[in-house]
Amino acid sequence: MQKKRVLVTGGAGFIGCHLCEELLCRENKVICVDNFFTGSKRNIARLMDNSNFEMMVHDVTLPLSVEVDEIYNLACPASPVHYQWDPVQTTRTSVLGSLNMLELARSLDANIFQASTSEVYGDPEIHPQDEDYWGNVNPIGPRSCYDEGKRCAETLFFDYYRQYGLHIRVARIFNTYGPGMTMNDGRVVSNFILQALQDEPITIYGDGSQTRSFCYVDDLVQGIVSFMDSAEDFTGPVNLGNPQEISIRELAERVIDLTGSASKMIFHPLPSDDPKRRMPDISLAENNLGWRPSTGLEEGLRETVAYFESLLREDVPSDPCHQPDIVATGKHN
Ligand code: NAD
Ligand code: UDP
Repeated sequence: MQKKRVLVTGGAGFIGCHLCEELLCRENKVICVDNFFTGSKRNIARLMDNSNFEMMVHDVTLPLSVEVDEIYNLACPASPVHYQWDPVQTTRTSVLGSLNMLELARSLDANIFQASTSEVYGDPEIHPQDEDYWGNVNPIGPRSCYDEGKRCAETLFFDYYRQYGLHIRVARIFNTYGPGMTMNDGRVVSNFILQALQDEPITIYGDGSQTRSFCYVDDLVQGIVSFMDSAEDFTGPVNLGNPQEISIRELAERVIDLTGSASKMIFHPLPSDDPKRRMPDISLAENNLGWRPSTGLEEGLRETVAYFESLLREDVPSDPCHQPDIVATGKHN
């Protein structure tokens, strides 16, 4: 059988590198496109020797011409620290990047997947969030470049579907964590683990009563690939995440316990528009894809702790390509 040629934008990022690896395991040819804004060469180093893997340094805000059968569009910084660092570029990446990838898919009649986000629900007024909920998003706040950029990308995907009959797949990904996150990622799981491993204060924003539901990256990748392989008429949007809800304070306690750390919690002001509660209703994914996450928080955190321990042992910056002024910790409002 002819191998499929698959394009992964943002393939050198945290989720993207796991997705590239899974697609290679499934005997595909993978073209990874990334501009290394938050992605890292370390993430794809283990794939570089694979003759079915190709890396292209390219910014998705510019048009791209390659011959592929499928496109996974993941290019976009996802950590609030990173996407707020250059908010105009974040909107550009979501909107122009999607437009360019949709045009490419249209010219090739290729299936295309969009990594959308639970942020399209904003600070949700319903709980748990299902796909019929239209969201509660501030259009002019510090998170808007990401939230509205991703919402506009969803609009573009559904307009290409209606107007041109393109085969689209739109997934709303909820908080995902695991090995492959960079040291300066700035999201809560990596911050807490790195702080705990170094006996530094655990930085809790607000009083820590806000909740999230954390999905281990291997589970997410299985969901993404099952979605691409699912029936052609299933466009989504579909929630992909782990419905195990936990408060940020409890997450801090779990990380301290797991690492045996001497760290104490310190409290910073809550960043503006920080969602108070978040948990996916995943019935649609369960019914249509037969998918649900299988990795519990404790197991996933153990793997992630082991990964960061190994990075710390190496005693090198996790990614020499990173912008020096983006910092891992501290409040970001
Ligand atoms: P990440 O920041 O680790 O990866 C994003 C990748 O995109 C990086 O490799 C970065 O260099 C690349 N990139 C950014 N702008 C680009 C551009 N203009 N051109 C080419 N490449 C560019 O983030 P992640 O956690 O791996 O997220 C991947 C995708 O999944 C994103 O689209 C994100 O919005 C979505 N998502 C992630 C989560 C999560 O919890 N990790 C949750 C919801 C949605
Ligand atoms: N958070 C925190 N301390 C940190 C980083 C994040 O308390 O060092 C909080 C943040 O305010 C939010 C939650 O943890 O309420 C998840 O933040 P993250 O940046 O990981 O993702 P978000 O879901 O906000 O995009």
